[in-house]
Amino acid sequence: MSRFWSDHVAGLVPYTPGEQPRVADLLKLNTNENPYGPSPQALKAMKEAVDGRLRLYPDPEAAALREAIAAYHGLASAQVFVGNGSDEVLAHVFHGLFLRGGRPLLMPDITYSFYPTYCRLYGIPCETVALRDDFALDPQDYVGGQGAAGIIFANPNAPTGMALGLDAVAGICRANPDTVVVVDEAYVDFGAESAVALLPRHGNLLVVHTLSKSRSLAGLRVGYAMGSADLIEGLRRIKDSFNSYPLDMLAQAGALAAIQDKAYFDKTRQAIMRSRDQLAVDLAQMGFDVLPSMANFVFARHRSSDAVKLAAALRERHILVRHFALPRIDQYLRITIGTDADCARLCAALAEILRKAQ
Ligand SMILES: *Cc1c(COP(=O)(O)O)cnc(C)c1O
Repeated sequence: MSRFWSDHVAGLVPYTPGEQPRVADLLKLNTNENPYGPSPQALKAMKEAVDGRLRLYPDPEAAALREAIAAYHGLASAQVFVGNGSDEVLAHVFHGLFLRGGRPLLMPDITYSFYPTYCRLYGIPCETVALRDDFALDPQDYVGGQGAAGIIFANPNAPTGMALGLDAVAGICRANPDTVVVVDEAYVDFGAESAVALLPRHGNLLVVHTLSKSRSLAGLRVGYAMGSADLIEGLRRIKDSFNSYPLDMLAQAGALAAIQDKAYFDKTRQAIMRSRDQLAVDLAQMGFDVLPSMANFVFARHRSSDAVKLAAALRERHILVRHFALPRIDQYLRITIGTDADCARLCAALAEILRKAQ
């Protein structure tokens, strides 16, 4: 607390990111980082971008990168907005699209915990809609959201990993034609269907992607939003009132090369999907209930062992997983999919912990 802070700072509830400790032999399965590393093409492009041109400002519009993203998704570049990680893109979305005269923003009760943080930051009332008992999102619950400032959900959802089909997403857009519907697809490349296919028919839809998970570039900080040109223009106006250069030259070069390296992208995401499906089977055999995941993590609850104790016992073995002390999910662990060797180390540790607990 400082007497020098602006009035609203004391009331903020900042997001708590997963920890990044530096310990040898640490197995980090707590922040959904990708074990395979970025495309070699992306690394090469960034190394080649390190020269005297760095004296210049980068392209404020990131035109080449936006064109590559547009081409990849079959859109026009006027339909693409890029930012310093999708968290920044989401912040601009809240600021630029959801501040609508005190109307509430609708979101699931269990979702990415940054959304309520942005609501507090920008003073947007937040209205949570409970997921069903099985943690599925029921599109019917969003019918009649017409008085809302907007609707936001992650698909696949975080931290459950559960995905909603395109028909359901389209239904939510159709039921709320005068409300912006934002679908955060941070994990969509691990087996779910992207709502990008719905953009031609739904001018109220905005889809957000990140290069942090499926492109293994969390350290580079690149995310983007896709939607109608007028939604994108709204975001651009916010960006150019905040920071004209959110992506440096190296990030623009690396992101462009990563988007264009489809072979590496497909190989690594398929490896993660295979490991995920195997890990779900292995965890079930050890007595876990595992939610059906379309993400690069699983969300699982042991039928007899307490989640906090399990996370602590894993930590003693230098394995980090994520636990959320929140209603409904406080007995679950969110476990990032690593390599097969990482999954084997996790399973061996869990087997030992559960044996000792008996
Ligand atoms: C990881 C994640 C993000 C943030 O991604 P960055 O691009 O690294 O900022 C956004 N939304 C969800 C649901 C995520 O899990």
